[in-house]
Amino acid sequence: MALLSIDDARARVLAAAAPLAAEDVGVGEALDRVLAQDVVAAADVPGFANSAMDGFAVRSGPAGRRLRIVGESRAGAPAAAAVAEGDAIRISTGALLPAGADAVLEVERVAVADGTVELGDDVAAGRNVRPPGDDLRAGQVVLRAGTRLGPAELGAAVGAGSGSLRCARRPALAIVATGDELRAPGEPLAPGQLHDSNGITLAALAARAGGDVVFATRAADTPEATRAAIGAALEADVVVLSGGVSVGPHDHVKGALDALGVREAFWRVALRPGKPTWFGTRDGRLVFGLPGNPVSSMVTFLLFVRPALARLQGAPAPPPRLRAELAVAVPRRPERDECVRVRLEEGRARPTGPQGSHQLYSMVGADGLAVIPAGEGELPAGASVEVEPI
Ligand code: AMP
Ligand code: MG
Repeated sequence: MALLSIDDARARVLAAAAPLAAEDVGVGEALDRVLAQDVVAAADVPGFANSAMDGFAVRSGPAGRRLRIVGESRAGAPAAAAVAEGDAIRISTGALLPAGADAVLEVERVAVADGTVELGDDVAAGRNVRPPGDDLRAGQVVLRAGTRLGPAELGAAVGAGSGSLRCARRPALAIVATGDELRAPGEPLAPGQLHDSNGITLAALAARAGGDVVFATRAADTPEATRAAIGAALEADVVVLSGGVSVGPHDHVKGALDALGVREAFWRVALRPGKPTWFGTRDGRLVFGLPGNPVSSMVTFLLFVRPALARLQGAPAPPPRLRAELAVAVPRRPERDECVRVRLEEGRARPTGPQGSHQLYSMVGADGLAVIPAGEGELPAGASVEVEPI
């Protein structure tokens, strides 16, 4: 049977992932969340005409005038007086422009003496005045639904008057690492054992993608232990399993998923590394069986789980791939597209080193996965390839 292409597999994942319900999130907690609703400016920002400089608020007119200082307008403390003919009001940057004034002359251009100020410059109307709505207009859409909130977006939302933001709920995620050989990070290893790196890496990838890891465990390679762990994990919106998804005598993930009523959407993708990837659903929950080799599980998370998490949060998914030229020739694989870990150097993609699916070091410092289409021979240096950003 022909293997499913990466794009077809991803399309099946996205078809199963509907945005989660929205909730109100305080602006202080909303970093990296995805907006479920447009943010509209409640009022003009700034809300009042104000000064762009420290100086004197005056009526426009010629240089050489000597004006009486009748008050002060500070940021947050407007002047009590207005500016009449012959008057000036001392003003700070950002302070409200007093009534009667139409310009500000900067403090460097005046001479102050005996309660008066002499203007060293002609003053045109509007000089150093920021009009209301200079940044945002009342009613203006400041941020669109689907926007991921970074520092600038949060500041703009606050400026627009928001104290909380309507965001999609973060997808709750459960991670189960299967394998008799796995030991907790830092524990001593007996012969044949290794540290469970996938549990940590997958949780970190999930957090980066906006997921909330609510459950993480390891499961031994028995049908009972595998089924019990996955059963508990199925409380979450998204279940990510590592290992045990092939057809060896000690691979129990597919059997457990079947017994638990998780419906298969696909198993096996024309992808290297990551061919045995499994995906299915139960009651709207998404379940990913990722291969255990550390690079395979990272690659398949990035290709399939990450876009699902984005879609669950209402973000446009998947983000566009980059294009780059290969810095060196790369052999092609018959039948399977290969994801080669690359560094991007001035638009050129350079493989990071040995590319075995067990060689996690190939992921360290990698900027992206160059997708080498299946085929004969090699792609020469300079060939243009798509790069999935990491
Ligand atoms: P599996 O997919 O279960 O056949 O595992 C494939 C390879 O990945 C084996 O060499 C495993 O020891 C290794 N592996 C499986 N799970 C993990 C894990 N959580 N952390 C690191 N390596 C793993
Ligand atoms: Mg295993």
